[in-house]
Amino acid sequence: KIRVRYAPSPTGHLHIGNARTALFNYLFARHNKGTFVIRIEDTDTKRNVADGEKSQLDNLKWLGIDWDEGPDKPGDFGPYRQSERKDIYVKLIQDLLDRGLAYKSYRTEAELTADREKQKANKEAPHYVYEYEGMSDDEIKAAQAKAEAAGLEPVVRFRVPKNREYGWDDIVKGKISINSDTIGGDWVIQKRDGMPTYNFAVVVDDHMMEISHVLRGDDHIANTPKQLMIYEAFGWEAPIFGHMTLIINTETGKKLSKRDETVLQFIEQYRELGYLPDAMLNFITLLGWSPVGEDEIFSRQDLIKMFDEKRLSKSPAKFDGKKLEWINNQYVKAAPEDEIFDSSLKELINAGLVEKDPNQLHLEWVRKLVSLYKQQMSYTAQIVEMSKDVFFQEPAQINDEAKAELAAETAKTVLTEFVNRAEKLPVFDAYQIQKTIKSIQKDTKIRGRALYMPLRIAATHEMHGPQLPESMELLGRKATLRNIQATIE
Ligand code: GLU
Repeated sequence: KIRVRYAPSPTGHLHIGNARTALFNYLFARHNKGTFVIRIEDTDTKRNVADGEKSQLDNLKWLGIDWDEGPDKPGDFGPYRQSERKDIYVKLIQDLLDRGLAYKSYRTEAELTADREKQKANKEAPHYVYEYEGMSDDEIKAAQAKAEAAGLEPVVRFRVPKNREYGWDDIVKGKISINSDTIGGDWVIQKRDGMPTYNFAVVVDDHMMEISHVLRGDDHIANTPKQLMIYEAFGWEAPIFGHMTLIINTETGKKLSKRDETVLQFIEQYRELGYLPDAMLNFITLLGWSPVGEDEIFSRQDLIKMFDEKRLSKSPAKFDGKKLEWINNQYVKAAPEDEIFDSSLKELINAGLVEKDPNQLHLEWVRKLVSLYKQQMSYTAQIVEMSKDVFFQEPAQINDEAKAELAAETAKTVLTEFVNRAEKLPVFDAYQIQKTIKSIQKDTKIRGRALYMPLRIAATHEMHGPQLPESMELLGRKATLRNIQATIE
């Protein structure tokens, strides 16, 4: 039976890399009719932030990722927050202590730091130096009693077997094996505050929650041997592991890190800009996974049907901002008018371009504006920048390249003809405007770019934009003709 989990630490908003981990686990579970569990890993109390859990879960829901068991969905394997499972860990840690597989360590932070500095100076990899070296059991007990009496608080360390290979067959990376001598010595399973460390708690929970597959980022590969030691110590069967490759930012060629400011990295930020959840889901799926074939646009149902963990990529995933925009544009174009309208209107109001409670007439105008830009937008906040110069303020200066276009003899003809004919139109709507342009073409034989470009530049002061007749209609007769007149004189 397939059971997978996404195990966020509530240390901040949902990062795009974490969203990917959640998504692949979700798709894997849904494809295989398995169970998808959310477990909150909040044992690192110093790093937890208020609302961290809520924000993570809200953003998963926004992406349309749902789960079968979790902190808000009790199942048979709860509680689903590690902070509520402390008793379970403490009992098992005691068991390891009783069996001599773990021990209390009283080395102070200051001593540990001093050790590390010495190791650095000697160019050694940082490691824990066994504090009871060469002592008999009785001597160890005496040393511990003394430290205890002095009021020192211990951590519990796991006794790492010497020179042992810990290996697994990774779904993504194939066979991996790591020698126990390279992991930095006996590691902490319980901190001074009594909380278990991640590497311990994760094993207990994955075992008790009957997790069959662990799909996570490859930054966890170095943790896996530690986790395998705990499975071994308890005689539990380890799950199947799959470590997904890191994400590279194509802009910088570097690993996507939270400090990288060239791209937005939190789902929240995309959401605020008016990106569509299905588009984001589609984009994230292609970060390190690829379907058979060339298509790149998939519905959620397609993805669930097609998802195959064997097609998780071995080479780094590429975060390509242009692709993100392209995919989002595909979804905006296909989305219902109303959905795009509501969110665009909000953006225009926030930007102060449209008043808070526009009247019906104005709303109709905004509706047309939104449908004009719908084809071009990747996310709705873009409507502000796209439309501002043309529709909401004095037209910008015409740049030199555009001026050159207007200097052509044919340009003058087209503009004068347009003004003369447009003044007499019964109504100034896109249909009439288009007819007028066609009539100029017929009478003057000026066509194509020579016909449309001067009109576009003169009316909007820009060389690119959405359909011209619709744009002119929205500008209105007065502004359109005023703009054009100004360029003829
Ligand atoms: N809480 C861990 C993290 O945020 C989960 C790692 C795992 O999936 O084992 O990275």
